[in-house]
Amino acid sequence: MSTLEIRDLHVSVETKEGPKPILRGVDLTINAGEVHAIMGPNGSGKSTLAYSLAGHPKYTITGGTVTLDGADVLEMSVDERARAGMFLAMQYPVEVPGVSVSNFLRTAKTAIDGEAPALRHWVKDMKAAMENLRMDASFSERSVNEGFSGGEKKRHEILQMELLKPKIAILDETDSGLDVDALRIVSEGVNRVTATGEVGTLLITHYTRILRYIKPDFVHVFVDGRIAEEGGPELAERLENEGYDRFLTHA
Ligand code: ADP
Ligand code: MG
Ligand code: MG
Repeated sequence: MSTLEIRDLHVSVETKEGPKPILRGVDLTINAGEVHAIMGPNGSGKSTLAYSLAGHPKYTITGGTVTLDGADVLEMSVDERARAGMFLAMQYPVEVPGVSVSNFLRTAKTAIDGEAPALRHWVKDMKAAMENLRMDASFSERSVNEGFSGGEKKRHEILQMELLKPKIAILDETDSGLDVDALRIVSEGVNRVTATGEVGTLLITHYTRILRYIKPDFVHVFVDGRIAEEGGPELAERLENEGYDRFLTHA
């Protein structure tokens, strides 16, 4: 069973005016099989946490540690993080013109596993995963993210998550811009992956809507670059009723 441990993480972002501190001491432990919802107002640093874990060059770690099963994640390159089992679905996914979804996924799978998946199994797995997400078979031949609708991007993220079988999945605003049907299908995908017990999920969201479909084990409220409050699913319900005002007036 895998564990991601974040201890007293401090991160600055590079701006034109110089480094700006954003994360101010984040502590979080995520075990395989758990879903942790990170909630919080806009600008509280949720995406900064995701990018920092992914190794984005714009974000400088100024303090603290991140380990995956004891291995130092912050020492790893972006590729090494993926191979170690970290998966980040981006809030704004990039286009990869000329590379089909099918080739992209197979290349990523090969890079992560260190060997190409057996073609027969791979084709079968991919077909099953796409059917689960109600994706048309023709989708696999399209260029990655090129002309994808919001819903297609999100389904593609979950397709990656299902096929690449990460240890830790970080989903940043996976719910934004989805209609109710797409939200349900995407949520079912996350729940399927969680049910394997082999993936720990960090579900970053501004809104409580997705938490009607994905039941988090833990809810962490992010305010001003740190966790201001933690609880179980009941905390999400409270936020749905009360919003973030309670936290902001104290800030
Ligand atoms: P959230 O995802 O919770 O909305 P972000 O992590 O995107 O928050 O942003 C946190 C804070 O960091 C905001 O005040 C934002 O303006 C600032 N920030 C993030 N990235 C950059 C950047 N590249 N340049 C300048 N400021 C940034
Ligand atoms: Mg934001
Ligand atoms: Mg964000």
